[in-house]
Amino acid sequence: MYDIVIIGGGPAGLSAAIYAARGGMKTLVIEKIAYGGQAVKTYEIDNYPGFSDKPSGEELSKAIEEHAKSFDVTFVQENVKLIENAEYGVKVIHTRRNKYMTKAIIFAAGAVPKTLGAENEDILTGAGVSYCATCDGAFFKGKEVCVVGGGNTAMEDALYLAGFCSKVYVLNRSKRFRANSTLLDAVKRNGRIEVITDTVVDKFNGETMLSGVSIRNTQTGEKRELNVSGAIVAIGVTPSSQLLKDCGAETCPLGFVKTDMYLATSVKGIFAAGDVRVSPLRQVITAAADGAVAATSAINYVNELGIKSV
Ligand SMILES: Cc1cc2nc3c(=O)[nH]c(=O)nc-3n(C[C@H](O)[C@H](O)[C@H](O)COP(=O)(O)OP(=O)(O)OC[C@H]3O[C@@H](n4cnc5c(N)ncnc54)[C@H](O)[C@@H]3O)c2cc1C
Repeated sequence: MYDIVIIGGGPAGLSAAIYAARGGMKTLVIEKIAYGGQAVKTYEIDNYPGFSDKPSGEELSKAIEEHAKSFDVTFVQENVKLIENAEYGVKVIHTRRNKYMTKAIIFAAGAVPKTLGAENEDILTGAGVSYCATCDGAFFKGKEVCVVGGGNTAMEDALYLAGFCSKVYVLNRSKRFRANSTLLDAVKRNGRIEVITDTVVDKFNGETMLSGVSIRNTQTGEKRELNVSGAIVAIGVTPSSQLLKDCGAETCPLGFVKTDMYLATSVKGIFAAGDVRVSPLRQVITAAADGAVAATSAINYVNELGIKSV
């Protein structure tokens, strides 16, 4: 029986592990792919405090992983398939090979950015194609970029980039925008932003670095190229929340897990941290902070249960 099982070994899960171990909890971290989560895929992280030398996502992830592993925590590389609420508040976590019993869970399974499925998108991700303007925008300072999407995030990204890029194209697949009218008006009024509607990206051009995008008008079929150095795909992220939904946790309409200020979900004894939960900002620093809060809440929960693990 564990005190706390953490599902997900990204920045949120690893930070939670540090706090849980320091709180004297018998802790297990279950990660299905690689420690560091989405951050591993990032070329350079220049907005995490204390690292002015701009580590790669891999380097920062390794540092967080090593820090977490310096504590008395068990780590396993397995894919969680089911979370079961058993008797007396005990939770049973099923992977393909094992079952783990625990008093509390910190769910930190993160999110996955939605992709366009355009040609070369996978090859040029991290080499001009990005899914996070806040993270990668600074690389395109003074250059021309495009933002793909029509929601609030795409508009916020365009406005953010227009602050330091020479030109920002907003590419939306229809004439209708999901973004609210205030943001859309601000975008349309901005002299550095050009909005192009009824347009899709067919291909990201370049072999090792993005050199432009091939776009197509969905109404006329007309094709053209934009010579941009950066392309931000802002069509949303998919939260990895299905396991929690299946065990009764409340989510918002987009699938993000609802929590209170202690990061407790609607299921007793289950806490959520990082990108998987409803949040106004999804970054390494917010994920790490969530891990600390969720672990502290889980420790209090376990201590209040008053049952000593065997
Ligand atoms: C391209 C890109 C660039 C970015 N750049 C920056 C940046 O420069 N600065 C910044 O602050 N942020 C950046 N971010 C955002 C940052 O990476 C995320 O906000 C952060 O990683 C979220 O941490 P997390 O722990 O909540 O989730 P994640 O990083 O998504 O980690 C979740 C982990 O859970 C695991 N998992 C999921 N389901 C299961 C399961 N069933 N069983 C076991 N394990 C499971 C996953 O394998 C994953 O490792 C970037 C993101 C992307 C995609």
